[in-house]
Amino acid sequence: MPLQTGGILTDTAKEALIEFGDGYSVCDFCLGSVCDMTKPPVREFARELLPEFLGCEVATLTYGARDGIFMVMHSLTQPGDSIIVDENRHYTTIVAAERVGLNVTEAPHSGYPEFRIDVNDYMPLIEKHNPKLILLTYPDGNHGNLTDAVRLGEIAQENGIPYVLNGAYAVGRMPVKMNDLGADFIIGSGHKSMASAGPCGVLGMKKKWKEIVLRKSKVYSNKEIELLGCTLRGVPLITLMASFPHVKERINHWDKQVVKAQWFSSELQKLGFKQLGEIPHRHDLLHFETPTLYDISKHVRERGYFLYEELKDRGIWGPQPGMTKAFKVSTFAADKDQLGFVVDSFKAILSKYS
Ligand SMILES: *Cc1c(COP(=O)(O)O)cnc(C)c1O
Repeated sequence: MPLQTGGILTDTAKEALIEFGDGYSVCDFCLGSVCDMTKPPVREFARELLPEFLGCEVATLTYGARDGIFMVMHSLTQPGDSIIVDENRHYTTIVAAERVGLNVTEAPHSGYPEFRIDVNDYMPLIEKHNPKLILLTYPDGNHGNLTDAVRLGEIAQENGIPYVLNGAYAVGRMPVKMNDLGADFIIGSGHKSMASAGPCGVLGMKKKWKEIVLRKSKVYSNKEIELLGCTLRGVPLITLMASFPHVKERINHWDKQVVKAQWFSSELQKLGFKQLGEIPHRHDLLHFETPTLYDISKHVRERGYFLYEELKDRGIWGPQPGMTKAFKVSTFAADKDQLGFVVDSFKAILSKYS
């Protein structure tokens, strides 16, 4: 299941999960600011390791990618302001904007079957709507398309507009650095792509936004308002930290991940499945239309459930019971042998019912 494989815990994180399971387990030595705690070493993680990893100057912990998106929108805009986002945006981008009261305009995708975003389409929209920020989903969660984030960074800088990169499926899977992309903010999701229990996320930014997004309470001088005074703690935080060395290392093998995803896609295309999104694909998140499986579902007693049952009998889990028209899949956590087994299983199922 594409949402889940990047969040599978490391063994170290599993140990930490038990050790820190109790409520308030990380708070014993907190002096009022969780990101400054030295025992466990949150300070080193949040103030040094994370900014370096994200390629930004300042980072903070959040309860998830959506919380980071909301915090930025809420700090930089007023109700009634405009923002521009890509049409492939996640629903949480829209809900966050609704909570702030923003007018959202979408830079269009190219439609079926590739759903590409051309970032140059942001330019006329910027002229027309005078947005207070722009956002790009990198990659999007539906097709795994990696849009030209660098070019959008140039456009943002030319126009002096803060640029938010939603990397929920990038940060922790693939190399991505905020400053290389010319972005002002970078957002990650711990349970989605950083091998942690969650719900948790990370938010990185340029230093100039610190006083705005991480502004402090007038009454409680070490409490950030946007974080409601304290942020991530307990199991989500400790598993995020415990897995971090592994996550930091695994992004170095991203090229192998891409080769694996492309190989898997080409094998499934030979079976008559149609890959949506960019081809050649550059991310482990893949979306296929499967007309050959849908045709079978029309003729068998189990209808669409036949596929779920057939896969289950082979020890393959993930597709929703009853669905045969299309599915999303991630190749991230499976090795090539396992993916080969999936390909062979589809072959066997197709020939069984042909
Ligand atoms: C899952 C997802 C989110 C939301 O992530 P949370 O960490 O659960 O808030 C945001 N954007 C994209 C592209 C996603 O796939």
